[in-house]
Amino acid sequence: MTTDEWWGIGLTIAIAAAAIGVMAVVVQLSRTRCPACRKPGLELDLRASAGGVDDQAPDARQFRCPHCEAEFRREDGGPLIPRSAWEAGAREEIPRARVHR
Ligand SMILES: [Zn+2]
Repeated sequence: MTTDEWWGIGLTIAIAAAAIGVMAVVVQLSRTRCPACRKPGLELDLRASAGGVDDQAPDARQFRCPHCEAEFRREDGGPLIPRSAWEAGAREEIPRARVHR
């Protein structure tokens, strides 16, 4: 093995590792967990997203859970908001209910 061949192998491994990393990110994005039932596979609702779901937030997208049918909306880069809370005006992540003993 010459030095050039070792470089070739190293480069191939680096490219493969980068490709795996990109794929992992894509899979992660496509398998967003449902905040309601915690199952992965939240789907982007393209029909509701066409032209925007909300006049006030043109970047918002609607998501739907195929498991529990829950609907969520999210502004570009923002947290997922349950549709009912969104329609009530919420745009921030809802804090978890405190447990009182
Ligand atoms: Zn769900």
